[in-house]
Amino acid sequence: MTAGADTHCPYCALQCAMTLTSPAALTPAPQPGSDPVDAAPAPAPAAAVSPANGPLLTVNGRDFPTNRGGLCRKGWTSASLLDHPGRVTEPLLKDDDGVHRPVSWDEALMRIVSAVKKARAEHGADAVGVFGGGGLTNEKAYQLGKFARLALGTSRIDYNGRFCMSSAAAAGMRAFGLDRGLPFPLADLDAASTILMLGSNVAETMPPFVQHLQGARDAGGLIVVDPRRSATAAFTSDGGGLHLQPLPGTDLALLLGISHVVIHEGLADAAFIAERTAGYDAVVRSVGSFWPERVQSITGVPAGLIRDTARRLADGARKGGSYILTGRGVEQHVDGTDTATAAINLSLLLGLPGSARSGYGTLTGQGNGQGGREHGQKADQLPGYRKITDPAARAYMAKVWGVPETLIPGPGLPAVQLLKSLGQPDGVRCLFVHGANVAVSAPDANAVIEGLRSLDFLVVCDFFLSETAAEADLILPVTQWAEEEGTLTNLEGRVLRRRRALTPPPGVRSELWIMTRLAELLHAPSTFSEDPETVFEELRLASSGGLADYSGIDYAMLDRGEAAYWPYPSGGTGTPRLFLDAFAHADGRAVFTAVTPRRRSVSRGSASAAERGSADHLGKPMTLITGRLMEHYQSGAQTRRVAALVEARPEARLQLHPAAAAAQGIADGDYVSISNERGEVSCRAELSTDIRPETVFLPFHFPELESANRLTEAATDPISGMPEFKTSNVWIRPAVSG
Ligand code: SF4
Repeated sequence: MTAGADTHCPYCALQCAMTLTSPAALTPAPQPGSDPVDAAPAPAPAAAVSPANGPLLTVNGRDFPTNRGGLCRKGWTSASLLDHPGRVTEPLLKDDDGVHRPVSWDEALMRIVSAVKKARAEHGADAVGVFGGGGLTNEKAYQLGKFARLALGTSRIDYNGRFCMSSAAAAGMRAFGLDRGLPFPLADLDAASTILMLGSNVAETMPPFVQHLQGARDAGGLIVVDPRRSATAAFTSDGGGLHLQPLPGTDLALLLGISHVVIHEGLADAAFIAERTAGYDAVVRSVGSFWPERVQSITGVPAGLIRDTARRLADGARKGGSYILTGRGVEQHVDGTDTATAAINLSLLLGLPGSARSGYGTLTGQGNGQGGREHGQKADQLPGYRKITDPAARAYMAKVWGVPETLIPGPGLPAVQLLKSLGQPDGVRCLFVHGANVAVSAPDANAVIEGLRSLDFLVVCDFFLSETAAEADLILPVTQWAEEEGTLTNLEGRVLRRRRALTPPPGVRSELWIMTRLAELLHAPSTFSEDPETVFEELRLASSGGLADYSGIDYAMLDRGEAAYWPYPSGGTGTPRLFLDAFAHADGRAVFTAVTPRRRSVSRGSASAAERGSADHLGKPMTLITGRLMEHYQSGAQTRRVAALVEARPEARLQLHPAAAAAQGIADGDYVSISNERGEVSCRAELSTDIRPETVFLPFHFPELESANRLTEAATDPISGMPEFKTSNVWIRPAVSG
């Protein structure tokens, strides 16, 4: 290990900077910005762990523009993942009795080659599928797309970012011609007068982020939209800001109502609209009937608050600046793209985007959620954020890869459709999973698990026996964050270095190594590399001229600490703030797209047949929303293995309003059953007036009987492919104590 390796947190897209050191080199000091909603002081620098192959390792927060030295509990305790006793350290093959037994790497790779060849021979190349992840480094994400298309010859690759960023990405492409989560540095928020944050609870999910909200909050200009009085909403209202608490799934109507006020009270930026946008008239017509009192009847948000929000945003734009930020709460819907579009339309009415002191952004969640969607692991994309159907893009990538264009398959299936195809006659029969735990994180998880079990062969690359890995025919043990080199792109579009601080256990391999060996064995028509810098150099070339252009970025400049925001063309400079001169559409204008709420075309859940036939009918359903807790990350495959985090949050709890609980005879701490036609889960109830009476909240980090995604539905947004995670009908009743 190096004396002090400067790297970044293995978890979320804030990518807080940290230094990994031996305890002797530490100067323990309180860290600014840690856990602002947690009154407890920042924990003493990190749990020190003793990897079997190296010295003690300690995490310390490092000063960086996004986290300013702060880390949350997940970051502080992240080192304990590295020598966890549950780590998978050798390939494991499931035998005929369903038991995973160690095998050599040679045998593991040959079993894969055999399974791939069999699936291709019997069902065609698209019978092999790949499911990637938004936590993979840029190098892995890039090479995974190439591996799927050239080594496996399949079109069927997609990734879990489809569940995360796809709606906002589609809306950004539609409005601006380009999708970068935050088109400005996070620190720009510090000077804002007004920030409207919809569907994001950063005070719990990204605590160091809150430092950047402090200025607006202290000025009474922080406005949070959330059906719950979340930690962020509480932080807001304590500072004199606003908390708008709409009915789940009505965010689009709410945004149209705010836009209506902006237009009808003359608050719109007429000069900006005339000079820099197109499509304004259609939006005026589309919001015409969404006057505040009508919107109040749809959303439950008082008309006065709707008007107040519009006025504060316009006032803020004239003063220090106004920002509109969206998160998964408003994006994870079957109309998520239209909802994010409505947020962008509002920002365009106020003239916020394309300014150095105002803007619109979406808050990417996964560690490399931004880079993960740029380099070709999406079903419809090639590297550089190029469309796979674009003849010029295909010709360019064929040249970079040195293959005939005909060898690059066309578009594949978006994540939900890919998972629905598992084991089907014309679907995927042999699946590779990299950096994802779909058995917990995908919607309608019971159906996903059935699909995994119906496969002819399932390969999972992971460092723990996740719930998905447990279903695998073959588990390949891979390196963790502190054992590998690479790059990630944070929520600002800034490219960061991940540095190797430890030698991985002897039986563990990097995913780049695995892809390279398999490509050789499968006689892929192009070259692959296990060296991250070599892969990054190819990625630079592949991205050159694309929307997400990394061609001017190299490891040396990142090692020097240069702030490298894409697009960063070769010989040019990076772009911290996008759109200052022009938007990315051919005419340089941003595009308004008229959107209106449409009747939902999907069943949001119904009582099961057994429930419908039962004597004690369950009555009116409640609306389930899902989300995250401070202590856990995504499916919890990592954080549920960190003792300090498990001690703090050992289990899922259903947040339930006391009035709703009383109607069912449920007391705080009672076990409850939560069910619909897709499944039934059970956990303790946590009664709270912080949630609307018709709404319940369940975190999605937990598996099996506590798995929220056993209840969510796999219906998707027709534009983005985003599943409906946020408005499932469920029935609640007391359960027998577990
Ligand atoms: Fe890691 Fe995100 Fe926590 Fe920062 S906020 S320490 S990046 S999990």
